[in-house]
This record gives sequence, structure tokens and C-alpha cells, in this order.
Amino acid sequence: MEITHLGSGSRGNSVLLSTPESNVLIDCGFSLKKTESKLQKLDVDPKDIDTILVTHHHSDHSKSALRASKKWGCNLISNAETARRLEWEGTARLKVFSELERIDAGVDISLLTVPVPHDDSENVAVIACDSDGKRAAVVTDLGEVTAELISHLKKCNHISIEANYDRDRLMRGKYPDSLKRRVSGRGGHLSNYQTANALQEIVHPDLSSIVLCHLSESNNLPHIAESEVLMGICDRFNGSLSISKQEGPDFSNWIGQSNPERIVV
Ligand SMILES: [Zn+2]
Ligand SMILES: [Zn+2]
Repeated sequence: MEITHLGSGSRGNSVLLSTPESNVLIDCGFSLKKTESKLQKLDVDPKDIDTILVTHHHSDHSKSALRASKKWGCNLISNAETARRLEWEGTARLKVFSELERIDAGVDISLLTVPVPHDDSENVAVIACDSDGKRAAVVTDLGEVTAELISHLKKCNHISIEANYDRDRLMRGKYPDSLKRRVSGRGGHLSNYQTANALQEIVHPDLSSIVLCHLSESNNLPHIAESEVLMGICDRFNGSLSISKQEGPDFSNWIGQSNPERIVV
């Protein structure tokens, strides 16, 4: 399985998962035009996307999902609450899933969703499994890593996980106190420290790559996130650690391959 972030952050998120027979987008939070041009850079015809899974209703994850699914003729999947919040009920291409149900997203890829706590939404983390049984996780927008999520992540060969903010920068920064509380609360986002702690518990010999994503542009910096996470895992992790920026795609990870491949446009 190949994992490519089309970009990630508060202005849009989308991850392409490709297997020999299938292409799946986890979230579609950029405009339709931008998403198509990002796919073009990867030589992927949008009409070859089989499924778009939307993790939750926030627009940085859902923006063009419905239009894309109609234009490209692919499946659109979400849970019932996300479909309700986005007023997608009754849409012909929509399939509604329940948490912890195995979803066939293409001929050789299935998805499992795990509920995570996030702001007034029913957000999910996604674990994708290819026909060789290799697993990749996409985990963003959660205030806390649950024990259930950790147990799933321990079986993954690739993990994309958010490292949203540096706690000092958030607390000293210009956000109003109420927003600081929301971001750092149980329904907010993961700090670099929380992500480092979770990964410390998760890292295992078959985990070949980690991508840190959804970094806040106001309250974080790539080198701060990277060094905090590395500090937590460097004694046990031999794979690659990369950062997905707001505007990608910059690189792809292949499961089983330790170095990401740069994308040359
Ligand atoms: Zn988000
Ligand atoms: Zn969100």
C-alpha cells in the first residue's frame, strides 16, 4: 500500500491510499479543483478513485467530498452523524458505516473506523488493510488517544497521526482563553507531547513509517513537532518520520519501505 498526503492542516486534509487495484481518499477537505490538481501531480485520474471516506463533518475534512463523488462516480462513505450534519442523507452514492465495521473500499483494500473524541462531532480514526494484511492508520482531530485506538495502532505498519500544537506556543500565543481550552481539551487536538507519548507506547518492530500531520500554523513548527516525537521514540524506532505540510503532495510512503519517496513535479 502506498500512502500519500495531498496536504494537511486546518485549511484542508486528504490522504490517498493506493493498492495495485484501488485508490481511496481518506477525507476530501480541499476544493474540488485543488484536489483534482493534486491527484494529477501523482498521475492519478480522479475517475480512478473508488471511495472517499469522510472522517467527520468539519469542512477541512469534508469540503468537496460530495461534489467529487458525484463528478468522479465513486462511493462516498461516512457515519450517520457526519452524513446528518452535512445533509447528505438520501444521496445515492452515500454508504453509511457503523464504528468497528469492516468496510470494503476497493477490491483489495478494506477500512476499519475507530471512534475518537473531538469537538461536537463523531470523528473516527481509520485503519486501512490491504490484501497482504498490511495496515496503515490515519488519525487526526482528537483530543485524547484512547486505549482502544492504541490497541489498533499497535498492529499498523504505517501511522499518520496529528501533532497539532506545541503546548507552550499555544498557551503563550494569541488565541483567546476559551479557544486555548478547546484546542487543548479532551475534544480538541493532540499536542506534540501527547502524540510523542502515544507513539512511545505504540512503536513496534513492524512499524516502518510515521507521518506527523495537521500541524497548527499558529501554534507549532515542523522541527519542534519532529524533535519532540523523535525524543520519545528514537531508542526503539528505526523507520522514517516525516511531516505532512498544508500544501502537498510532497512524498509517498510505501509500506515495508523505510524511506519515503519524494514527489518530483
Ligand atoms: Zn481538522
Ligand atoms: Zn475537526
